[in-house]
Amino acid sequence: MKSNIPTSKIEALAKSIKGKLIKPGDNNYDEARSLYNAMIDKRPALIVQCADTTDVQAAIQFSKEHQLRLAVRGGGHNGAGFGSVDDGLVIDLSPMKAIHVDTKNQTVLVQSGCTLAEIDKATHPFGLAIPTGVFSTTGIGGLALGGGLGYLTRQHGFTIDNLLEASVVLADGTTAKASEFENPDLFWAIRGGGGNFGIVTSFLFKAHPVSTIYGGPMLWPLEDAEQILGWFDRFIDTAPTQLSGFFALMTVPPGAPFPEDLQGKRVCAIVWCCNCSEERATAVFDSIRQYRKPALDWTGPMPFPALQGMFDPTLPKGLQWYWKGDFVTRLDNKVIADAVQQIKDAPTWQSLLHLYPVNGRAATIPPDATAWHYRKSKYAVVIAGVSEKPEDKDIITAWTKNYASILQPSSDGGGYVNFMMNEGNNTVERIYAGNLKRLSSIKAKFDPANLFSINQNIQPA
Ligand SMILES: Cc1cc2nc3c(=O)[nH]c(=O)nc-3n(C[C@H](O)[C@H](O)[C@H](O)COP(=O)(O)OP(=O)(O)OC[C@H]3O[C@@H](n4cnc5c(N)ncnc54)[C@H](O)[C@@H]3O)c2cc1C
Repeated sequence: MKSNIPTSKIEALAKSIKGKLIKPGDNNYDEARSLYNAMIDKRPALIVQCADTTDVQAAIQFSKEHQLRLAVRGGGHNGAGFGSVDDGLVIDLSPMKAIHVDTKNQTVLVQSGCTLAEIDKATHPFGLAIPTGVFSTTGIGGLALGGGLGYLTRQHGFTIDNLLEASVVLADGTTAKASEFENPDLFWAIRGGGGNFGIVTSFLFKAHPVSTIYGGPMLWPLEDAEQILGWFDRFIDTAPTQLSGFFALMTVPPGAPFPEDLQGKRVCAIVWCCNCSEERATAVFDSIRQYRKPALDWTGPMPFPALQGMFDPTLPKGLQWYWKGDFVTRLDNKVIADAVQQIKDAPTWQSLLHLYPVNGRAATIPPDATAWHYRKSKYAVVIAGVSEKPEDKDIITAWTKNYASILQPSSDGGGYVNFMMNEGNNTVERIYAGNLKRLSSIKAKFDPANLFSINQNIQPA
């Protein structure tokens, strides 16, 4: 705890808010400060678990009065651990979980402490969904502000392409709306620019008819990976946008429900999501089955939230993670052969490569229409070294960095902000490319003193 803050001031803050104030020494401090990525171990001076917008404003005011660095936390899933800060103040939005589904207008108002699972649970009974990500434990706050890609990206675009309005607390403590009609520059910036511009307390999203989907994973032995990836690359070029799926190189988890003969085997996978008729999905699935029979085929009809949460148990909170993101368009023989070799050499069974196609609806929006620049790339790539053992930290980091450097010559030049670690200023140039200059000038307008700095930080112009 910063010794120069009088206890009376801290007590006054605790009394003034509706949420909770947590500090070192409190019983729940370790739980409250823990992040999804256990490689990041930060010890904030104060954690304000906010119940509403006025709590957020009070916490901002307190951090400024006492010169405490400020971190903002939604779901706490950020790989780089930007949801916390050593010796500073964390604004934890996770108690703010209200959701309102407007079936008439097909919109959903979501407070920013929600996880994807909570949103899917609210929208599914109405046969609706918001395009988000593929692990339902992720927080909507960080995901939506970074872009948000997942199973519905090819059909309906990124999460930001479905954002209609956001309520924001600005660095000066005032509130503002951001939409096409109010503060359009702020609205442009928060669609991909992360938490650089203010604290979003709620999002209004456009929802889409999504109910039963046809999907799930198909797995093949690693020997088939080059052919399967080549097939997938050709298929996804022209596939109808209702059909999506991501390609993975991975290890079959060593336990039930996976068949014993596959457990611990390195494999390739396509995880399908077809928001289409059963006939159409079956025709696609049959074509890949005939091309190469999968070693495991768990595709079928299922409620959309079942697919969204299907892999949550394989990657629980508390593992060590080191990530690198990239955008790639051309999967030539070398890229494919390197990918297979790298997964053979992966240091742990949890380490993985995912290729998310972003070539449908998201690619029809111009690169300067929102802060997300790389809309013409075919795939968002994520390479993640993952382990449950803290002592594996160095080997998973080295493997990820090495693989990223091998892929680099084939990269389109950037990476998705939400798949990056904390690697300094050069990172934001890579992420935002041609949009960085405009982002910097909007940052100067809304946060000239860079109060919101614990993120992939955009410097005020
Ligand atoms: C297992 C796993 C799977 C993932 N899958 C996907 C995926 O399918 N698609 C995808 O797009 N991404 C995916 N991600 C990446 C994910 O989008 C990022 O990790 C994102 O940062 C998580 O958001 P969060 O709110 O949980 O994180 P946090 O750590 O709480 O916050 C992340 C960043 O956003 C800022 N922030 C959060 N909420 C707000 C707010 N309301 N206002 C202002 N700033 C805020 C924080 O300050 C911080 O800088 C995945 C991550 C993990 C760990």
